[in-house]
Amino acid sequence: MKALDELTFDNRFARLGDAFSTHVLPDPLDEPRLVVASDAAMALLDLDPAVAQTPVFAELFSGHKLWEAAEPRAMVYSGHQFGGYSPQLGDGRGLLLGEVYNAAGEHWDLHLKGAGMTPYSRMGDGRAVLRSSIREFLASEALHALGIPSSRALCVIGSSTPVWREKQERGAMVLRLAPSHIRFGHFEYFYYTKKHEQQAELAEHVLNLHYPECREQPEPYLAMFREIVERNAEMIAKWQAYGFCHGVMNTDNMSILGITFDFGPFAFLDDFDAHFICNHSDHEGRYSFSNQVPIGQWNLSALAQALTPFISVDALKEALGLYLPLYQTHYLDLMRRRLGLTTAEEDDHKLVERLLALMQNSGVDYTLFFRRLGDESAALAVARLRDDFVDMAGFDTWADLYKARVARDGAYSEEQRRARMHAVNPLYILRNYLAQNAIAAAEAGDYSEVQRLHEVLTKPFEEQAGMEQYAQRPPDWGKHLEISCSS
Ligand code: AMP
Ligand code: MG
Repeated sequence: MKALDELTFDNRFARLGDAFSTHVLPDPLDEPRLVVASDAAMALLDLDPAVAQTPVFAELFSGHKLWEAAEPRAMVYSGHQFGGYSPQLGDGRGLLLGEVYNAAGEHWDLHLKGAGMTPYSRMGDGRAVLRSSIREFLASEALHALGIPSSRALCVIGSSTPVWREKQERGAMVLRLAPSHIRFGHFEYFYYTKKHEQQAELAEHVLNLHYPECREQPEPYLAMFREIVERNAEMIAKWQAYGFCHGVMNTDNMSILGITFDFGPFAFLDDFDAHFICNHSDHEGRYSFSNQVPIGQWNLSALAQALTPFISVDALKEALGLYLPLYQTHYLDLMRRRLGLTTAEEDDHKLVERLLALMQNSGVDYTLFFRRLGDESAALAVARLRDDFVDMAGFDTWADLYKARVARDGAYSEEQRRARMHAVNPLYILRNYLAQNAIAAAEAGDYSEVQRLHEVLTKPFEEQAGMEQYAQRPPDWGKHLEISCSS
């Protein structure tokens, strides 16, 4: 276990130089205070969790103090936002403080979000408010606990610094961890500005540090792109299987590592709704729940375009062609497991599609349905769940197909079925209204609800005593909360 001053830095991205990022010092927040910290994320840096309670922790992650070996940099990138190209983006309110490596030899970027103005702030104030910082923190750690690849969050530090949004709020910072903060938009920036030399340097950097195994392949860059395609297909399959809506899948918010990244207005589905739009600013529904699948491919093609200096168009097209079939394989595999099936049959996709259509019609809670389906034998579970469906006859038809399918799958005890299904069907997810309750308490100065919710979400598959209130459908007020970009 390390103390805070024992972190070891190795700032590989900063060493790429001024064409890639700009040195900027964090602009500190007033009266910093710890809101919440993640012990699991602390462990990634070998940090003793107790150090989160020391005053210097809040000072470090609110911009008051800096390690001598840190090199805070604002990265430059661009990207396609809502389908249109924005030639100049970059870290407008976040700073890469440096890269820390742990005892296992892993490097982790320390990225401080809400750290003040940078050359890329455009019209923004460089700040993040408490509300959005808490949301990012909770989502990062909740996604990870669900087994969905994601950037991580070390802590949220609150403050008394006023920040203006629709009303006056308080500034906060979230410390984000990821093995890299390089986005699709980094490649697009150097491609569209025709900075060929730097683009080659960036590609070498990513290949060497993050895809070293691709070096062994006859065409290393192509192998790397293929791997990125595969990781995205798998990540998005997990989003769809667990009802996660990212909200702003612009190419500047897509990680080169295929991890969930920069998800401001995200939501987990309450009622199943394929057309759900979680981002209040997304008027056309470009990033609606079901559109995430084709948008994943669209984003990969935008990256492919930026990689044309290194890879032939034909090879890129072929690699892009892997996306949909891979997505479908991963998605179906997960959905089979959510249904408690251990074998594969040709028509399983129909079983899933029919169920989702029935859930859509009746507004059935997506998370609780699967959890309850695993509570008892298939016959007893469907008999109990049918009351949630308006089209009961339709559900009965599905239930008969399901019971027959379960019977063909094999003979299992109820115990085995429950254990297997509960291991993949969470009881607790980060519902918007739960986040909202925790945020309201935090805005009034009480951080205990954020901390409790975080704790519950670190073990989403385990029933936790006394935590029933976190496994409920939303009350009416919590069903249609409006969340928009960049807060
Ligand atoms: P996002 O929608 O959070 O992914 O942000 C898109 C772009 O806007 C990025 O370049 C951000 O750094 C920048 N940005 C968002 N909010 C702010 C802010 N409050 N101040 C400065 N830049 C911001
Ligand atoms: Mg962003």
